[in-house]
Order: sequence, then C-alpha cells, then structure tokens
Amino acid sequence: MNLIPLPAFTDNYIWLLHDDRHALVVDPGDCAVVLAWLAQNPQVQLDTILVTHHHADHTAGLAELTAHTRTKVYAPAMENMPIAVHGVQQGDDILWHGLRLQVLDVPGHTAGHIAFWAAPPDQAPLLFCGDTLFSGGCGRLFEGTPAQMLDSLDRLAALPDDTRVCPAHEYTLSNLKFALAVDPDNATLHAHFGVCTQLRQQGQPTLPVRLSTELAINPFLRSRSHAVAAAVRQREALAVDDVTTFAALRAWKNEFK
Ligand code: ZN
Ligand code: FE
Repeated sequence: MNLIPLPAFTDNYIWLLHDDRHALVVDPGDCAVVLAWLAQNPQVQLDTILVTHHHADHTAGLAELTAHTRTKVYAPAMENMPIAVHGVQQGDDILWHGLRLQVLDVPGHTAGHIAFWAAPPDQAPLLFCGDTLFSGGCGRLFEGTPAQMLDSLDRLAALPDDTRVCPAHEYTLSNLKFALAVDPDNATLHAHFGVCTQLRQQGQPTLPVRLSTELAINPFLRSRSHAVAAAVRQREALAVDDVTTFAALRAWKNEFK
C-alpha cells in the first residue's frame, strides 16, 4: 500500500492510499488535486472516498469527484453531507481490497466526527483522523465538549504505538510552538521541533507521524502528565480535574500567538 499526502488549499492534506490499481482518498475538499493525481497515474482507479466530518474543506470536492469517478463514499452517519453517502459509525468496518478499515467515533471538533484505522499487511497501521488529532495539537471544539474531545483523544492514544497518524492539516510547526510554551523541558519535543522545522524548510510534509511520537510531544495527549497539568494550573488555578485541565489547555491554545 502506498500512502501519499496531496496538499490542498493552504494547509490541508488529502490522503491518498493506493495499491497500484485501486485508490482511496480521505476528505477531498478540493476535487482538482485528486483528479490531477489520477490523470498522472492512469493505471490507478479511484473507487473509494472516506470523509471524517462535514466541514467544507473536507467535503467540497465530493460532488464533482463522484461525478467524474465511480466511487463509494463513506461518511459520518451523524452528519449532513452535500451528496448521498454510506453513513458509518463506531463499530462499522469498511472492506477495501482486503484491507479492513475500522470506523471510530471521535466527537469534539464536530458532533459526529469519525476516524478510520487500518493495519495493512506488513506495514505499520494507519489512522485517518481528520481534524481531531493533529501533530502537536488537536482540533478546535466547534460542536463538542472538552470531555468528549478528551475521551476521543484517549481512544486514539490507545491505538497501537506504531500507528502512522494522518491528520488533515499541516499545522505542526505552529502547534509545536504552543507545545514548547506549555512543556518547555520536554527534550523529545525540542528534537521533534528541529526535525519538523527542517522538513518544512525543504517543503516536505511533517506527516504522517508515529503515534508513539505524538504520545511523547503532544500536550493534548499529555494533559494528565505532571509537566502539562502543572503549566495549565499555573495559568488557571481552577483547572483541578482532567476535564477542566484539558478545557483550560484548549482555551490557552485558542489565545496563543
Ligand atoms: Zn474541520
Ligand atoms: Fe479542516
């Protein structure tokens, strides 16, 4: 299986997975970049589209893409989509040319946000997590509560350590700047910031990223750690339990410049 991040808009990635014959894409907000890749790779047929949530930067390409290709679209059962789709939710499996994609409910950024996890044979597992988990950060809480987002991130954190995390945005450097403000003594975080800075200078994506790396550097996966919780409580004394600490951390990030 080949995994390719197709850059779209200013900072989106449309993830494309293919086996040299069939392809699937995740969150095609822009039809043109997908059609351009398909035109350059005529031996590969797009047959499946996965959608994590209803925001336009993830769904605006659906109508045109399904008009140009014969594709099945799997999208959150709990959200409204611009076209007819197969609604899926936690517990559903999608079988794609022998690969089993498991659907996870991860509400928080939107109320019905889902993610897709799969373990291709002889490769590290894959997680398509949309705008729930970013490298070094997490999505804004537009429709869900902090408790929901914390629970969603906890379930993603429990996936196998070697999972390749494939978020829908290249927000890594700005997230890591915030992470460094929260968790300044984290040596792994400093080292990862150096690696990602170099990748961006070379015009390369910082993604996918190993879940084990995220567990070591992402403050939103580490909100119960002493370092992160203490930094939050220094700003917000009322952050006394896991959920209020997480909520205060998310609020801090919203204001961070
Ligand atoms: Zn979004
Ligand atoms: Fe987005």
